Amino acid sequence: MDCLFCKIIAGEIPSNKVYEDERVLAFYDIDPKAPVHFLVIPKKHIASASEITAQNSGEVAYIFEVIAKLAKELGLESGYRVVTNVGEDAGQTVKHMHFHVLGKRLLSWPPG
Ligand code: AMP
Ligand code: ZN
Repeated sequence: MDCLFCKIIAGEIPSNKVYEDERVLAFYDIDPKAPVHFLVIPKKHIASASEITAQNSGEVAYIFEVIAKLAKELGLESGYRVVTNVGEDAGQTVKHMHFHVLGKRLLSWPPG
């Protein structure tokens, strides 16, 4: 499948890994929008959050468990933002669901 993030999971494209287990991969964003900016993705290919169903919603729950753990480990106790872009209007560029985790800066709301 021609999917950038599936290639990163397969190790065909390198990434700066934060965490990996049998279900998820977390790696630093190549173009960070905050002092700490990493992505958490399911190893199972899911195109976006609009593809979440009763069958695969466990992946999202697990991703949030991992985010809570990594945020503590990376010293983001003062706060962080979790974002998932869905589709063209939201500017989703990689069609493999991913959760941006942004921290270590006061973030304005709403984002641009
Ligand atoms: P989105 O715009 O929500 O689809 O986010 C895609 C994100 O993937 C962007 O923030 C990119 O900077 C990031 N990205 C693209 N290619 C890579 C890569 N090879 N390694 C790490 N992050 C990447
Ligand atoms: Zn994929």
